Amino acid sequence: MRQPHCAPALLTALIVSFAATEAAFSDTTTTSPPSDPGRRNENHAAPARVFSATAAGSASSVLPPDSSAAVAALVTAVSEAEISASMKRLGEFFTRHTYSEKLDPADSMGLEGEDRKAAKGIGAARRWVAQKLRSASPRLVVSFDTHRVAPRPPRLPEELTLHNVIAVLPGATPEGRKRSFLISAHYDSVSADADGTIHWDRFDRPAPGVNDDGSGTAVLLEAARVLSSRDYDANLIFAVFTGEEQGLVGSALYARKARESGMRIDGVLNNDIVGGEIGGDGRVDNRTLRVFSEGPEDSPSRELARLAGELAGKYLPSLALDLVFRHDRFGRGGDHISFNQVGYAGIRFTVSNEDYSRQHTVRDTFDAVSPAYAARVARANIAVLADLALAPSAPVVTDDRGNPTIDRGESGYDARLRWKSGGETGDLAGYLVLARETTAPFWQRTYWAGKADQFVLPGVPIDRTTFGVRAVDREGHMSLASVYIYPARPRPDYTELPLN
Ligand SMILES: [Zn+2]
Repeated sequence: MRQPHCAPALLTALIVSFAATEAAFSDTTTTSPPSDPGRRNENHAAPARVFSATAAGSASSVLPPDSSAAVAALVTAVSEAEISASMKRLGEFFTRHTYSEKLDPADSMGLEGEDRKAAKGIGAARRWVAQKLRSASPRLVVSFDTHRVAPRPPRLPEELTLHNVIAVLPGATPEGRKRSFLISAHYDSVSADADGTIHWDRFDRPAPGVNDDGSGTAVLLEAARVLSSRDYDANLIFAVFTGEEQGLVGSALYARKARESGMRIDGVLNNDIVGGEIGGDGRVDNRTLRVFSEGPEDSPSRELARLAGELAGKYLPSLALDLVFRHDRFGRGGDHISFNQVGYAGIRFTVSNEDYSRQHTVRDTFDAVSPAYAARVARANIAVLADLALAPSAPVVTDDRGNPTIDRGESGYDARLRWKSGGETGDLAGYLVLARETTAPFWQRTYWAGKADQFVLPGVPIDRTTFGVRAVDREGHMSLASVYIYPARPRPDYTELPLN
């Protein structure tokens, strides 16, 4: 066994485990792919194993537990009955077409029974969604995020005033309140004519929109109810958007405003069409949830998808997250894209099999969704949001000029990683170093570095390995991995001269 590099200047790096030299990719020129190279993540719930740092004299702390009792308790608190009732209710507004404000004669919140069903249109739906959030917990700060938009035909044929519904569960500390995680869904719906034409300004047809996206809205409402039962380090934002069918309008305006105001949103989980388990081709799959994430390979969105896969594997063995390395389905979109486009990490959860024949039609009804499946989706969201919001801030792996703090160490042939704290560190247990071959979809190896600020993997070539670092607290909550990325440098624009 080779000894780790021992220069006095690298004392903090001495916590490198001797086991690090076992790294499969050290000194190898060929590497084998994971046993299951498929996208489904169920067999990749966590990297192979943690190599604990045990070298003498290290300041390494104890390895935190592999799973958190707090997260597990929240996951179990999900009520399938609540989700079922919300999906059913959202299908009863006749339509939630973005322009259907006029259908709502008055504030309909006090209505009951048959009268309640008389409350039609997106205005009534919006008030119902806001009321559900307000009644979930007094800790939730509920507001309407209102925008007035100029026409933009064909999808925005007239001027539009739209109202996103936003609920915020503020973080427990002033430092934690500087960063947020956001869950989203859209409460608007649309319905095509029998010939398939969608009238972007007409709302005279029923548009129940129970799967698209009453299901995501119901999942979000249940996540708000369950998660607001306790405190977290970071803010949790519950964003119910409108104008999605009209072209991601509500989320685009919200995301742009967030970016312009310097808001730090570390991850977005978008839930859109998460209630149906029967595909239009008859295939039934109630045990798989697709997760779409934009590239490139080491993007924060991709990293969010990987962590979601790991956490679902840990807390929710009955639901496999099928990671799709694409921003969305072919030719389709969702509200996470509004966040991606202004530089926030965001992923989309959606059903395993779609029934295209029901989408955007009068047949997107309650009888075609599965509350049991949607409840599993809610549990997956809760596991991810609770873990991330309870975890310390992700470490910073770049220097002041934005260059990755990774080099080949004193020997010139090691992998030396350095990082800084990303924020509050009250209950920090230490840092987890992750590694994978550049061609591997999921993290393959993890190394516990304890409360260090650097780590050396002797003899591991940095050029054909991808590295990341996660901050972990004493209960085992993990931050997103900060990944060492070296973007291609822009080349000078050479001026070509005529040949002499
Ligand atoms: Zn949708």
